[in-house]
Amino acid sequence: MTFDGITKTYGDGTQAVKDLSLEIEDGELIVFVGPSGCGKTTALRMVAGLEEISSGEIRIGDRVVNDLDPRQRDIAMVFQNYALYPHMSVFDNMAFPLASQGVPRKEIKDRVERTAALLDLSDHLRRRPRNLSGGQRQRVAMGRALVREPQVFLMDEPLSNLDAKLRVQMRVEISRLQRHLDITTIYVTHDQVEAMTMGNRIVVMRKGVLQQLGAPQQLYDRPVNLFVATFVGSPAMNLFEATVQERADGRFSLELGRQTLELPAHVDGHVLRPYRGRKIALGVRPEHLLPPQAAGDNPRLRANIDLVEPLGSDRLVYVSFPGHPVVTEDVLESARDVDEAAKESLQGAHREGTVTAVARYDPEADAPVGAAQDIGVRADKMHFFELETGARI
Ligand code: ATP
Repeated sequence: MTFDGITKTYGDGTQAVKDLSLEIEDGELIVFVGPSGCGKTTALRMVAGLEEISSGEIRIGDRVVNDLDPRQRDIAMVFQNYALYPHMSVFDNMAFPLASQGVPRKEIKDRVERTAALLDLSDHLRRRPRNLSGGQRQRVAMGRALVREPQVFLMDEPLSNLDAKLRVQMRVEISRLQRHLDITTIYVTHDQVEAMTMGNRIVVMRKGVLQQLGAPQQLYDRPVNLFVATFVGSPAMNLFEATVQERADGRFSLELGRQTLELPAHVDGHVLRPYRGRKIALGVRPEHLLPPQAAGDNPRLRANIDLVEPLGSDRLVYVSFPGHPVVTEDVLESARDVDEAAKESLQGAHREGTVTAVARYDPEADAPVGAAQDIGVRADKMHFFELETGARI
C-alpha cells in the first residue's frame, strides 16, 4: 500500500495530516503512533474511505482507491468501540458481514468456523456477547472483521478498553494472528510500548507530520529528533542542556552546569564541531547511566541519589545535579503522562538550575539514597540534538 503525498484539511481549516508519504509492504504490520490529535486516526479513516482525501493518492496494490467506496476497497476495520450485536450469537455476529454480502450459507459457515478456530472462539459460537469476557468480545470483533478475508486490516486503538493484563495478552495474540494470516495491517495507538512491541515498523507522527519511520530498535537507537527521542522508550530518555567545547587536542567535551564530561578518544565527536561554544541537548537513555563500578573509562557525572525504585530485574535510580533540563516544546509535548503540573515543575527546575535523571541499574549495584555518586555516562551511547530545531546532530 502506498501513501503518496496525503493531506487532509477538514472543513474548519484544520490540517490533520500533512503531505504523508510512505510505502507499506504486503503482509506487514505497521503501527501509527503519536500523541492525541497527531492525525493517526484521520490517516486510517482515509484508507478506509470514511474520510475524503484532500490531496495525494492512496494506492492498494496498483489500484488508486481515493474515489472508491469503502465497500469496494477490500478493507476491514476494528475500532476502539467495537459494537457487537447484543441480541445475536457470536456466530451470527461474525457471519453478519458475509450474510449482508450475499455469501452462500455453506461458505459462511465454513469461513466463520475457520476464523473462530483461529481466534480460539470455537466453543463460544452459540453464546451471546454479554456472556463473554472482555478479551473474547474483542476477538469476536476481530473475527467479524477477518471473516471477510480482506486485503488490508485496519485497527484503531483496538485494545484501549481492556485492562492492562488483557491488553498485553491480546497484543501478542494480534501479532501472532497477523503473521499467520499475512494480511497487510495498519495499527493505530497512542501507546509507544504497544507500538514498540507490535510493529514490524513504526510511523511516529506529530501534528499531522511524519517524524520518523523505522523498525522499533531503529527508533530507539537513533531517534531523528527530540520529539521521537522522548516519545519512544520508558522511562524516557534523559535530556540535559550541554555546552560544547573543543579542547586543544581536538577532543570534545560537554559542560553540564559546573561539570565537564570529556568524550574519550574512542568516541568520534567531530559532529559536534559546528556547535563549539553553543548549547545543545545531550540525551542519555536510563540504561546508559552506569553505577560507578561499571563506569570504566566513560566520563562521570556527580549526582545525588534521590530515590531508588526496585523493579526486580533492575532498579530505577532517580538522581539530580545542578544543570538545566531541556524544556523545548517538542519535549514537553511528547513526554507521556505529563500534565500541566509536571510541565510547570520541569520549567521550575530549569529556572532553579536542577536536573533530574533516571538511571537503570543492575539490582546488585550500589545506590545509597541521599548520597552522591560519580555516575558513568556511556560516551558511545550519547545522543546529541540541536536545541533550536530538535534535530539529531
Ligand atoms: P486521538 O488519538 O485523540 O484520536 P489522533 O492522532 O487520532 O488523535 P485525529 O483524530 O486524526 O488524531 O485528529 C487530528 C486533528 O484533526 C486533531 O487536531 C483533531 O482535532 C482534528 N479533527 C479530527 N476530526 C475533525 C473534524 N471532523 N473536523 C475538524 N477537525 C477534526
